[in-house]
Amino acid sequence: MPFDNDASSSVVSLLIIEDDPRYLESTRLLLAPHIQMIDTAMTGAQALACLAQRGYDLILLDLRLPDTSGHELMAHLREHYPASRIIVLSGDNQIDSAINCIRLGAYDYLRKPCEPEELVKTVRNAAKKVRLAHDNQHMLQQIEQSEQWHRLLVNTSPDIIYTLGGDGRFTFLNERISHVLGYHPDELVGQSYEAIVPDDELENARYRLNERRTGDRSTRNVELRLKRKEDLLTGSGDTTVAVEVSATGMYRPLPDGGGEFLGTYGVARDISARKQAEATIVFQAYHDLLTGLPNRTLFNDRVGQAIAQARRHGQALAVMFLDMDRFKVVNDTLGHLVGDGLLQGMAQRLRDSLREGDTLGRIGGDEFMLLLPHVRSRDNAAFIAQKIIASLKHPFYVDGHEIYSGMSIGIAIYPDDGDTLETLVKHADLAMYHAKDHGRNDFSFFTHNLQHSLSGRLAVENDMRHALARGEFEMYYQPQVDIQSQRIRGMEALIRWHHPERGLVMPNDFIPIAEECGLIAPISEWVLETACQQAMSWRAANLAPISLGVNLSARQIEHPHFVDKFIQSLKNNGIDGQGIEIEITESTLMRDMDGAIEKLRRLADQGVEISIDDFGTGYSSLSYLKKLPVHTLKIDRSFIQYLVAPSNGSTIVAGITAMAKGLHLNVVAEGVETSSQLEYLKTVGCDAYQGYLFSRPVAACDATALLQRH
Ligand code: C2E
Ligand code: MG
Ligand code: MG
Repeated sequence: MPFDNDASSSVVSLLIIEDDPRYLESTRLLLAPHIQMIDTAMTGAQALACLAQRGYDLILLDLRLPDTSGHELMAHLREHYPASRIIVLSGDNQIDSAINCIRLGAYDYLRKPCEPEELVKTVRNAAKKVRLAHDNQHMLQQIEQSEQWHRLLVNTSPDIIYTLGGDGRFTFLNERISHVLGYHPDELVGQSYEAIVPDDELENARYRLNERRTGDRSTRNVELRLKRKEDLLTGSGDTTVAVEVSATGMYRPLPDGGGEFLGTYGVARDISARKQAEATIVFQAYHDLLTGLPNRTLFNDRVGQAIAQARRHGQALAVMFLDMDRFKVVNDTLGHLVGDGLLQGMAQRLRDSLREGDTLGRIGGDEFMLLLPHVRSRDNAAFIAQKIIASLKHPFYVDGHEIYSGMSIGIAIYPDDGDTLETLVKHADLAMYHAKDHGRNDFSFFTHNLQHSLSGRLAVENDMRHALARGEFEMYYQPQVDIQSQRIRGMEALIRWHHPERGLVMPNDFIPIAEECGLIAPISEWVLETACQQAMSWRAANLAPISLGVNLSARQIEHPHFVDKFIQSLKNNGIDGQGIEIEITESTLMRDMDGAIEKLRRLADQGVEISIDDFGTGYSSLSYLKKLPVHTLKIDRSFIQYLVAPSNGSTIVAGITAMAKGLHLNVVAEGVETSSQLEYLKTVGCDAYQGYLFSRPVAACDATALLQRH
C-alpha cells in the first residue's frame, strides 16, 4: 500500500541523518514506498542545512555522527523544530540511553542494528500519526473557516439577527445591531431584550415574546420600535428606530412529542426609511409642500377642534385671513421661482411672529390663514396682526431681488363673529377684503357692517353699469411740469366718478371692480374718447401743444384687437397718435412681454408715446426696456415720498434717473408734494414732475385755465 495513505492526501516528509552511506541508502530504499518525501544528511551540519530549507514531519536520527554529539543535535532539534517527530537510531543498547532520548523528546527509539520490518513499522506508525495530525489540523481549519464564513454571513446581513434565551436575555446578536442601534453586540448579550424596548412598546414586545413560548412555532412579523444607544445616553433627540421583527420560538423536542422552550430566534429589519416614506405621504396630504405649512384640510381640522375646545371652556379664539399684497406682480414680473421663494420667506416670517399653539396654514396661492386658539381680547389678536405687519417692513431677498411685500389681514373672533368654521373663515375673508380696500398692508376686524359693504361691492358693480349712460364719469387732468423750464408739458387724464349717493369715487375704488366684471372696456372707450376730444379742443384753442396721458389697464392691452380698436378710436375722434401718451404699468407688460412688444411697436408707429407708470414697483429687469418702444418712465410716488428723509429712496430715484438717461428715456417723478423733493429731483437730472406741489388733478375747465396761464 504505497504511502500508507489511509485515505489522507497529506504528504509526510522524512529526514534521515546517518553517517554510514550504505546504511543510509538502504534505509532510504526501505522507507521510500511508505514516505513520499525523503531527504538525507550524513553529518550534523548537513542535517541543519536541510532543516534550514524546510521542516520535516519525521527525523530518523543516528546518534553517532562524525561532527556532533547525537544528544546535542537532538536537544537543538527539539528546541528549534518541535513539530518534527524524532525517531532515534542508536547503537547504544543501554536502557539509560533510551530513557534519556525519550526524555529529550524523541518520539521513538530503535536499537541498531534493527530489523528492517521493525524500522518500517515504526516509521509507518509515526507517519500515520503525522497524517492524522495533518488531517485534524486541516479539519480544524475547515471548521474555523466555515465558522468564519457563517459569522461573515450573519454579520453582513442587512438585518439584525439575534437569539434570546428562555429568560428573555440575548444570547447572540450580530454586528448589524451596532449600525442600527449603536450598541456593540457584547454590550447586550446577557441583557434582557427589555433594555432596548421603549416603555410604551414594552407590553407589545412582552406579548410577542410570550406568544413564542406557547409552542406556536409559526413565524410572525411584528412592528416595534427599539431604543438607540446615543439617546439612552443623552436622553434626547430621535430616540427610537422602527423595526420589523420576525421571531420564531426554538424548542428541544421532548419524548412526549412536545417541546421544551429554549428561547427565540429572530430577525429584525430596520424599516425607518419605509416609515419615513409613509410619514411623508401622510404629511403631503395635510401640508403645503412649498412652505411645509398645514394646508386647508389640516387647518380647517384644527379650527374645528379649537372651536370645540373654546366652546367647552367658554373661551374665545381668532381666525385670521392673510392675503399678500401685490404677490401677483412679483409672480408676473420676476417669475414663479422667485414667487415661490417669496412665499417661503413669507411663511418663515409669519412663523416667527407666532406663539406656540398658534396654527398657520397656507390655503391658496398667496393666501394664508392663522388660528389663535387662545385670545383673551380683540387687542390680543390685533397685537399679533400688528406684529406680522411690522415684520414685513424689511424686504425679502430672493434670488438677488430685494422685494417688499405687505399683508392684508382680516380677523374674525369666535364666538362674536361666528361660531362655525365656515362663518369664521368667511367673515375673516370679508374683513381681509376690507383691509385691502383701505390701503393694504393693514388689518381689519370683521364687523356686521362689512356684510353690507360686500353687498356694497355688488352695488358698485350695478351702479357702474348705469354710470356711463347717466354721465356720472368725468375726466380730471393733472399737469406734468418740465423741471427746468417750469412749463406744463403734458396732462394726465384721470377718471372720476360722481356717484349719486356716495359722492366722488376715486379710480382705485372702482377700476379694479370694472376690470373684474368686464366693464373696463366701455369705460376705457369713454376715457379715450373724452381725452381725445379734450386734446382737440385744446388744439383748437391754440394752446401750446402738449401731450395727453391716458392710463390703460392690463385687461385692455391683453385684448387681441386692442391696437386696432385704439387706432380706430383715435381716427373716430379725428386725432392722430401724435400728442397722445399711454401709461402702462410694468406688471401689465410683464404678463405677456412678447405680445406687449408687438402691440406697443404698432402704436409707436402711429406716433403714440409710451410711458411706464408706477415705475420701480414691478421688480422688472431693466433690460426689457431696451426691447420696448418706451419713451418715458414715471417713477412711482412711493419713492418720491421718501425723498426728504435720508433713506434709500433717494438712491433709487438717482439710480433710475441715471439708468433712464443712459437709455435716452424721459423721467417723470410722480406725486411731488414738497419743494425739497423738487429740489432733489433737479439735482439728479429728472426731466419733469407731477404732483400736488404744482397742481392736484383738476376738472377740464380748470385744466384749460392752467394751460392758458402758462
Ligand atoms: P396713476 O396713473 O399712477 O395716477 C397717479 C395717481 O396719483 C392719481 O391718483 C393722482 O391723483 C395721484 N397723485 C398725483 N399727484 C399726487 C401727489 O402729489 N400726492 C398724492 N398723494 N397723490 C398724487 P388717482 O387719480 O386716484 O388714480 C389712481 C390710479 O387709478 C392711477 O394711478 C391709475 O393707475 C388709475 N386710473 C386713473 N384713471 C384711470 C383711467 O382712466 N383708466 C384706467 N385704466 N386707470 C385709471
Ligand atoms: Mg398714470
Ligand atoms: Mg402712477
